[in-house]
Amino acid sequence: MHHGIATFDLRRFSDTLRASAVPLQAIDFLGLGEESFTFLLLRVQTRWQVANIHVDQHFKEDSRYLNIKWEEDGKVGRRIFRLWPLHVLGGDYIEKAVPDDVCALQIVAPVGQLPPGRYRLEWTQYDPWDSGAVYLPPADGDNCLDIELGALSEMPQIYLGKRLLVTAVGLGKQKIEIGGNYWLKIDEFNPTFEGEPRFIGNIYSTGPDGVTRSMPYNPVSFYLVGCQMPFLVDKDGDGVTYCRRCRVLFWEDAHRECGDAVILPDTIFVEGGDGQ
Ligand SMILES: [Zn+2]
Repeated sequence: MHHGIATFDLRRFSDTLRASAVPLQAIDFLGLGEESFTFLLLRVQTRWQVANIHVDQHFKEDSRYLNIKWEEDGKVGRRIFRLWPLHVLGGDYIEKAVPDDVCALQIVAPVGQLPPGRYRLEWTQYDPWDSGAVYLPPADGDNCLDIELGALSEMPQIYLGKRLLVTAVGLGKQKIEIGGNYWLKIDEFNPTFEGEPRFIGNIYSTGPDGVTRSMPYNPVSFYLVGCQMPFLVDKDGDGVTYCRRCRVLFWEDAHRECGDAVILPDTIFVEGGDGQ
């Protein structure tokens, strides 16, 4: 206190302020004289917060358009926006740099890349010291919002007549690449109950001779969630089996001699959708 003016260095509090989970901090002045008194000295915005997020979406000519607007409390530079698919485990996110002084973005992507489903929006900052690994933030993470994109009714338009290449099968956390010998043609959208992303199609395999043949298990039925299928059953309703030793897909009791190499995948990974 000097000539009635008190000065103090806020930096002394910076670690405390940063460590706090509260975005808006109040600093009270506490006078300890003959009569003690307190008053609010100042408020410090310690965290950057995105608020009032508004997402407008539409679907045109096989592309999904998202117009995203928001407001911010606090100001930071080098902002990054990410869109994470939640309906596909380990699915690829879309990332965009946010230009300075703008609180709006447009994202345009083929619907194959942004299929109907649940997504998490994330606003963060570019960190030059970061190791480069990027992880899905938790649902209650800072500057995150979960939204639903698209509708099931879009699915026939997106997928019917398309061709998908089976690239891998998954079992637990294991993803096993199977090579490019199997592909599916999607013929019918056939939900047996409301909200089911179920399709019917045919599976083909290309042999070492380069000839593609329809497999004897057709037609097959599957859910399509982004680029993954949680199941792929044959005409009898049996789930797909994969032999890791022989590198083949089949739907029957076979490859007994291969023992543990035979697995029942819990995910089938596909790519493509180019309609060829
Ligand atoms: Zn085998």
